[in-house]
Amino acid sequence: MPELAEPAAIVEQFDCPTCEVPAGSTCRTRGGKVAPKYHTPRFMLVPQLRAEL
Ligand SMILES: [Zn+2]
Repeated sequence: MPELAEPAAIVEQFDCPTCEVPAGSTCRTRGGKVAPKYHTPRFMLVPQLRAEL
C-alpha cells in the first residue's frame, strides 16, 4: 500500500462539510480564523485518510 505523500493536499481537494470552505482552502474556525487542523468530517471524504483514523 503506497504511503500518502501529502494528506493535507488531498484533503484540500474537497470542500469542508463543517466550516464550508471551498476546495483549496484551509479550514476556518467559527470566528473566521484559520483552524489549527482540518475538521474530521473533511477527512471522512477521503477513503485513504478515513482508514487511518
Ligand atoms: Zn473545516
